[in-house]
Amino acid sequence: MKHLYIHIPFCRSRCSYCDFNTYANREDRIEAYVVALCAELRLLAETVSPAPHASAEAASLHPTIFLGGGTPTLLSLGQMERVLEAASAIVPLANAEVSSESNPGTILGRNYLRGLRQLGVNRLSMGVQSLHDPTLRILGRIHTADEARRSYAEAREAGFDNINLDFIFGLPGQDQTQWEDTLNEIVTWGVDHVSLYSLILEEQTPLYAQVTAGRVSIPDDDATATMYESAMSHFAAADYVQYEISNFARKDDVGQSKTLPDIPARACHHNLAYWLNSDYLAAGAGAYGHITSGDSPHRYSDILAIDAYIATMDAGHRPLAETIPLSAADRRAETMMMGLRLNVGVGEDHFAARCGEALADVYGPQITELISQGLIERTPGRVRLTPHGRMLGNQVFLRFL
Ligand code: SF4
Repeated sequence: MKHLYIHIPFCRSRCSYCDFNTYANREDRIEAYVVALCAELRLLAETVSPAPHASAEAASLHPTIFLGGGTPTLLSLGQMERVLEAASAIVPLANAEVSSESNPGTILGRNYLRGLRQLGVNRLSMGVQSLHDPTLRILGRIHTADEARRSYAEAREAGFDNINLDFIFGLPGQDQTQWEDTLNEIVTWGVDHVSLYSLILEEQTPLYAQVTAGRVSIPDDDATATMYESAMSHFAAADYVQYEISNFARKDDVGQSKTLPDIPARACHHNLAYWLNSDYLAAGAGAYGHITSGDSPHRYSDILAIDAYIATMDAGHRPLAETIPLSAADRRAETMMMGLRLNVGVGEDHFAARCGEALADVYGPQITELISQGLIERTPGRVRLTPHGRMLGNQVFLRFL
């Protein structure tokens, strides 16, 4: 197996917009969780088998391990070492892209960052979200803008040469001027990779309640679309390649992959595996895996709650919550919906290798219609979203279901 996701479901406190599977004030359970997680990883290592249907594009990706959350940087270096050691039985660390998400409020200075780097983490993803302190407070973030600036500088000093920053637009109180100030500042940092997300108001979150009660206002759809468009032009002008709807990487070594054109060297290979609809294992509370090898292609998820996850592993059982069978039709639709998120779109060879059928035979009528609507276009051997289609991505994706 080439790709592995590991979920660390702990956060110091819960951000007001977050609906991820993560828990605040449970740090007393981190050690027991790490023991259970390592046991699950060892169990998964026994089930590993090579993924079939790998296209040349998927085969060109680095092996990857992605520590997401939650806040993986709440783990001590010793705990991180044990997790990575167990993970390496599935995906060997040599030549792998090993990413860890992090919260600037939990990065414990240069020594911690140096230790992380020495353990083999070679890509750090920092959730900065905003460089405006009043907005960070509304979001319930545990760091200030200055702390994010300092954490970024410390990560560089600690030797991280592949850093991603996450930002959100369409935030409470955010206007175009404030957003452009943020964009202007980010590009001066020379960061390797940026992920930009439009705020999604999730029901059951405090921010949703505040907005629907009229206590907090957020920019309307037009203003949010303008922010997205301005981000695309800012990053293009600063020599970043937008290689996916929400993701930008520094241009300096575009075209590294001969099989996957125009993907910059600092693109996130773990996420590329998702967008190429590749197989991946996952471990940890609430983690999702995707396996199409063997006789029963399926997606699986692990038990959500920390205590139940630990208890199940303690009893020696695999902590599965759900297994969802995947049909050939699911695979075709997902290969299109995920692949069209990439700016290079879906390669006909990739589709044929992944799905065993020609793209034109399966989706010819949909492609013809979407081209006539100006939402997708053909390039040699590929189909991709047009700039207009990128603004209406969900509408396009639904046509392949
Ligand atoms: S730090 Fe991230 S995972 Fe944790 S509560 Fe905030 S948004 Fe959610």
